[in-house]
Amino acid sequence: MARKITLIPGDGIGPEVSTAARRCVDATGVKIDWEIAEAGADVIAKYGTPLPEATLESIRRNKVALKGPLTTPIGTGFRSVNVAIRKELDLYACLRPCKTYQGVRSRFESVDLVVVRENTEDLYAGIEFEEGKPETRKLIGEIEALSKKKINPDSGISIKPISISGTKRIIKYAFDYAVKHKRKKVTAVSKANIMKFTDGLFYAAAREVAREYEGRIEYEERLIDAICMQLVQNPGGFDVLALPNLYGDILSDLCAGLVGGLGVAPGANFGKEIAVFEAIHGSAPKYTGQNKVNPTAMILSAVLMLDHLGEKEASAKLEKAVAKVIAEKKSVTYDLKADRNDPTAVSTSQMADAVIAAL
Ligand code: NAD
Repeated sequence: MARKITLIPGDGIGPEVSTAARRCVDATGVKIDWEIAEAGADVIAKYGTPLPEATLESIRRNKVALKGPLTTPIGTGFRSVNVAIRKELDLYACLRPCKTYQGVRSRFESVDLVVVRENTEDLYAGIEFEEGKPETRKLIGEIEALSKKKINPDSGISIKPISISGTKRIIKYAFDYAVKHKRKKVTAVSKANIMKFTDGLFYAAAREVAREYEGRIEYEERLIDAICMQLVQNPGGFDVLALPNLYGDILSDLCAGLVGGLGVAPGANFGKEIAVFEAIHGSAPKYTGQNKVNPTAMILSAVLMLDHLGEKEASAKLEKAVAKVIAEKKSVTYDLKADRNDPTAVSTSQMADAVIAAL
């Protein structure tokens, strides 16, 4: 029986790359009944919101979604539609594998890292106080009284909550991922020497979880600044990286850069029961409708989805087909050509055709 999965085409280049990914998944032979759900800038006029409740309901019902990028419209009350989806569905773990494929221009040849980012806490929790507002002045006064430290009165304040429970579940996710995917090491990353009660707590909770995996998966800790340097010097020294929200956001882009950039970087967001698969890149509005951008990141996100569905063979087959097309450097989009103006570059849909032919 076909498995029902929510497909959110997204906006901007979203519909182009998600159609490419959908066609590739269908061509693997895995039977999927796609339930199309709307979201993004293009549906605000119709629903009065970029994130209709029916779309969230569809994901809750089907438990798995493949999602195209969504533009965050200015002035709708949403900081980001993507962050709103993660919050609404409690998708606490963001997974970003960063792997070099032969044929993609990058500084390193054999990077194979996985970044696991906590998705719900930290400075990203959205608890912010605007400079000059009465409540901000009140908060500054109370913090000064409690901490006996001075804060400039013209400050804005962002709050950084990091909890034991939130940390334990993300570290457990990282270790379980490592076990399932035959990885060797989890590195917890933080800045515990400076932020003892948040980042220090992150390490303490991580160590407790790590003990449960002793003898099976190695555990180590790195400071965020040190690992930034070590990663650009020797990315091969790391395996699975587990980070709080903000460091995870920054480091996953750094790691995407190590393997050739946004066009080839897939991602996924996991909750207890729900998983949403999406490319790291955004809606690249300037390329909308041109059938020009690279569909690889979205297709590789679908590879992760197939793996999650237990369709290991189809997942491996699709990844191999993408790798083959990229390595041949022939039927690839402009950004994968040595010269971005190369007239032999193919379109988004033609690259998907080539992947399907290579299956
Ligand atoms: P972006 O990723 O959309 O674009 C940055 C640049 O990267 C583009 O100009 C383009 O040159 C390149 N690029 C991105 N995807 C590409 C692809 N598949 N092939 C080739 N080149 C590609 O980032 P942005 O311009 O900062 O954001 C545009 C919109 O997307 C914003 O509204 C932002 O909020 C949203 N966004 C959404 C997501 C998501 O849906 N998960 C993620 C990031 C940004």
